[in-house]
Parts: sequence; C-alpha cells; structure tokens
Amino acid sequence: MTNFADLGLAAPLLKALAAEGYESPTPIQQGAIPHVLAGHDLLGVAQTGTGKTAAFALPILNHLQKINRRASPKACRVLVLSPTRELASQIQANFTGYAQFMRVTSTVVFGGVPVNRQVRAVAGGVDVVVATPGRLLDLISQKALTLNEIEILVLDEADRMLDMGFVRDIRRLLAVMPPRRQNLFFSATMPPEIADLAGSMLTNPKQVAVTPVASTVDRIQQGLILVPNRAKQATLHKLLEDASIARAVVFSRTKHGADRIVRHLESAGFSAAAIHGNKSQNARERAMASFRDGSLRLLIATDIAARGIDVDGVTHVINFDLPNIAESYVHRIGRTARAGADGIAVSLVGEDERGDLRGIERLIRRQIPVLPNPLGDQAAVAAAVQVAEANKPKEPARQPRPDRSGGHHRGAAPGRGGERHGAGGGRPAENGQNRRRNPAGRPKRTGAPGQAQSANQGRRDH
Ligand code: AMP
Repeated sequence: MTNFADLGLAAPLLKALAAEGYESPTPIQQGAIPHVLAGHDLLGVAQTGTGKTAAFALPILNHLQKINRRASPKACRVLVLSPTRELASQIQANFTGYAQFMRVTSTVVFGGVPVNRQVRAVAGGVDVVVATPGRLLDLISQKALTLNEIEILVLDEADRMLDMGFVRDIRRLLAVMPPRRQNLFFSATMPPEIADLAGSMLTNPKQVAVTPVASTVDRIQQGLILVPNRAKQATLHKLLEDASIARAVVFSRTKHGADRIVRHLESAGFSAAAIHGNKSQNARERAMASFRDGSLRLLIATDIAARGIDVDGVTHVINFDLPNIAESYVHRIGRTARAGADGIAVSLVGEDERGDLRGIERLIRRQIPVLPNPLGDQAAVAAAVQVAEANKPKEPARQPRPDRSGGHHRGAAPGRGGERHGAGGGRPAENGQNRRRNPAGRPKRTGAPGQAQSANQGRRDH
C-alpha cells in the first residue's frame, strides 16, 4: 500500500502528517497528490470526509516549499475558494497543521467579521489565502489584495457554490487571475452547470473520483420515524432521553425552524445551540467550540451552516425535517461516522415529506428502515403532543433579521427557507456586509441560484 513518503512529499510534511496521526493516504489523496505534484489541473469528485482537503493542501505546500519565494505585498500565491466560513476556517486550520514544520503563511478571508484585520493580514503578502467569494471580491475592489500572482487556485465544494449563487462571483474572480496557473476543482456532484464551470476553468485535467455521493457511508446506521409534524418536537425530546446520543447534530430545513427547535429543547431542559446564517460569526464560533469540546450536546444546524463541519465523535445525526434536495441528506448524515467511527442517522418524516423521502431513497439506492416512534402508539403520540403544546415556549416577537449586526440585508429571504434557497438573491452564508455593497455594479440577483431548487421554494417553513 502506498504511504505518504511514496507519494514524494517533502520531509517537513511527512513529519507533520506523523504528528497529526495520519498513517496512510486516503483514496482521494492517493489519486490526487501525484497529479497535483506533477503540476496538472485536477477535477476531483469527492465530498468532505474523504480527506480531500489534504489531497490538495499537501501537494500545494510541497510546491510552496520547493519554489520558495515571497508573495509581493497585497498578493498571494495560492487561493482556495470555499462556499462557507466554517469550511474556509477548517481548510486554513488544516493548512496550518500540515505546514507546522514549514515557513508558510496562510490567512482566511470571509464575511461577517470586520474587514480591517483581513486587510492587514494580506498587506505584507501571504502564501495561501482561503476565502469565501463575496468578501474576497470586496478586498479586491478595495485594492487590499490582488490575485495577479496566483500560481494555484483551488475551488472547493463547487456544487455548493452553485447552490449558494456564487458562480457569478467565481467567474469575476477568474477574470482577475493570471491565465497561467494550476487549477484544482472539487465537487461532490457534477450537475451540468458545474461541469460547464469546470470545463471553462481546467486545462487537460486529470480526474479523480471517490465515493460518489449516492453511496452513503456504509458505517452509518440509518432509520426513520414516520411522525405527524405536530408530534416531531415531542418525538425529538423522547429520542434525546437516550443517553447513547452523546453528541448530535439536529438538522432543520430553515433558520427559524432551527431557532424554534432550540427554544423547545431549552424549555425541556436540554442544552442546545443553533448555527445558521442569521447567527453572528461570534455566536457560530462559540456554538462550534462548545460542541467540539463536548460541553454542548446538541447542535441544531441548517444545511449550509453545517456544510463541512468536521467534528469527531458525533454519534448521531437527527433530521428534524428532510432536506428537499436529496444530496443534502448524504451530506447531513456524513457529519457522523467520521474518522473511522460508527454513526447513527435518524430522520423524522412528516406527513408531507414522503416525496422527499422517495427522492432520497432513490438517490442512495436503498430503503431506510422504519423505526417505531419512541413515544409509543398513536394514542401515546397524541397525548405527548397535548402535553408539549401545554408547555410550549413563548414565541419571541419576530425580528426581521435576528442576531445580525449590520442590518441592510437586501435580498435575504427571511423565514422562507431563505438560507438554502437564497430566494431573492441573498448570499446565504456570507455576511450582511457583502450584501450591502454591489461592487462594480454587479446586477442584483433576482432568480433562484439553482433552477433545480426553485420548484421547492416556499414549501414549508417549520
Ligand atoms: P476532509 O475530507 O478533508 O474534510 O477530511 C476529513 C477528516 O479526515 C479530517 O478530520 C482530516 O483531518 C482527516 N484525514 C484526512 N486525511 C487523513 C489520513 N490520510 N489519515 C487520517 N485522517 C485523515
């Protein structure tokens, strides 16, 4: 079996990998690293959890070490584009870990936090910038950063970029990069728009594909509970009485839904916090940190906010409602069973979600077994709902945009499944600051970011 040394990585990288406890390369790493080291463009079909970050970060760091030169002030040598802040932070943390025995500088650029620190971080020039597209465009239009020295570009989670309406921004960024550069393109799925974008970006790419999104991780034990929508919250509480649920991500389709679940859980004595695009960067980081260190048992997340979350020891994923894009189900349940562990995924399927369930089962090519409702038979379910309704927490007065500092979120779609669909043109998981500006007269987006999703808009807002 190939090991990291056989792949031809430099000694400081091998030392860092040993320090990180990596013993052998994952399939995507085995497939991709030699091509990237050889300077080829790459088309990688892989999702998070496969080790794809190291598949591009290691050969990039190898290159930076081999061709040792400094970036000019306000310039960078490598750019990694990520759809979300969380993923961007994780990628940069990985770069830092792998480069711990090298002199490589990296920084992360994303919205939702003041821009000044980021301007300062790139002022002297930096080797690697990991960025979300909107804030990066802001830095460029302020002339705080130029991309004209880019040697390697990585586009990560391209399909999610499309879902979030970033493809236009990416094309704008490509236009200000030197045409001679190495391009690494990663996506979990290849819808036609993404294949198009890849075609326009890549030159004679080598292709590496692992674990197609449709083949759900086998180690995850999946089940579903058919439950009337009214009884979902009570069912969730009952499920959570099971102490073997040590650390769980609970998915909600919408931001308001996520907040409501937290309120109900808290009033029933569970400790829970939500992460989604309406939460401030601080609140998200706090929630992630306590989830990571084990002091928070339940993280309630929307699809976009949870994207790329890589926390070991997530024992359960609970779908409070099903995603209406089947692929998201695979991404959701992939938050458990990481780093070789087993995991359990339980979905609460309401009366109006049978269609979504069929779509998911078609995609994963298996039937998800039906589990009994932990509340008991129909009469017990009805009784539990009555009790729950009597103890219902107070709904707070609806704030149009809770927990944001900037205001002015033109185009966000509060309360209508806005984070996923971005209806009306918001840049969902990025920040208000980006939305406020319209650099270089970018036309306001009016349509849904992905045609495929528009049909589902406005369906249910739990
Ligand atoms: P990624 O797909 O990049 O999000 O990686 C998923 C997880 O696998 C991360 O926690 C990585 O630190 C870890 N990982 C990546 N490559 C390896 C490897 N070769 N051996 C062990 N763990 C790895």
